[in-house]
This record gives sequence, C-alpha cells and structure tokens, in this order.
Amino acid sequence: MRIGIGYDSHRFQEGKTLVVGGVHIPYEMGLLAHSDGDVLCHAIMDAILGALGEGDIGKFFPDTDSQWKNAVSTDLLRTIVTLAGNRGFTIGWIDSIIITEQPKMAPYIEQMKDALSAVGLAREIISIKAKTNEKMGFVGRGEGMASQAVCLLLPR
Ligand code: MG
Repeated sequence: MRIGIGYDSHRFQEGKTLVVGGVHIPYEMGLLAHSDGDVLCHAIMDAILGALGEGDIGKFFPDTDSQWKNAVSTDLLRTIVTLAGNRGFTIGWIDSIIITEQPKMAPYIEQMKDALSAVGLAREIISIKAKTNEKMGFVGRGEGMASQAVCLLLPR
C-alpha cells in the first residue's frame, strides 16, 4: 500500500472562469494558471503521483509546453488515474480540502464528486472538505485559493 500528499494554490484573477473539482462556479474571478487553475484536481493529481513515486504534475504537464495551455484539469486527472491503474494500483481513498474565503465551496461538493467520478474516481472513494483560512494569509485576504489532498493506493 502507498500514500501520497498533494498541495496546490493559485491566485484569483478577474476575467477567468472559476473551475474547482471540475465544476464551473459562479464568481467574480477565476484562478490564474497555465491550465484552468483547478486547485482541487491539481492537489489530487499530485497526491496520486506522490503515491506512485512519479514526481508531480509539472513533470507530466509542464507549464512551458503550449500543449497544456488552458488545459481542462479533469482531462489531466483522467490521465493520472489511468497511469495509476497501468502501474498496478487501485485508488483506495482520496481525502481533500479546498481552502478559500470566497466563494463558498460546500454547495458544490456533490457536483465535484460527480465530475471526478466521470474521470474514474468513484464517489465512494473521495472525500472533499471545504474551509476558510480564518482571514489569515493570502487565502484569508482573498488573493487566492489552496487545496490539499492525500491518496491511498492499493496494489491490485
Ligand atoms: Mg496548479
């Protein structure tokens, strides 16, 4: 059995669509990134890759490669989930946290689970939690959003 940890953060920027956990969320800003900036998907990918001992998403989808510009992160996640299967592992459990002051994430968690199950992460093996940073730091000032995830991999 293997475990992995993932973390991601992105800065809010006006004029971008906010996408978290594969769900488009109405808000005045989106997340600045080479891809769609989906912090939850990025944290989950890094957790899976960490458990595989395969580095991080920068290795697989470098932001210097125009191929990944404006990439849809759920598509990238599907690739990493498939990789785990090809390496002989089943994803046993993912626990995750989305950390932001605004907008509220809790109303969208079920939709996020639907979006993640569509790329091979069954609802039964995903936990998504949402919290604020109690007005502290960059998240607290509303400058950006962060996410953390852990992944348990089981040998098939
Ligand atoms: Mg990222």
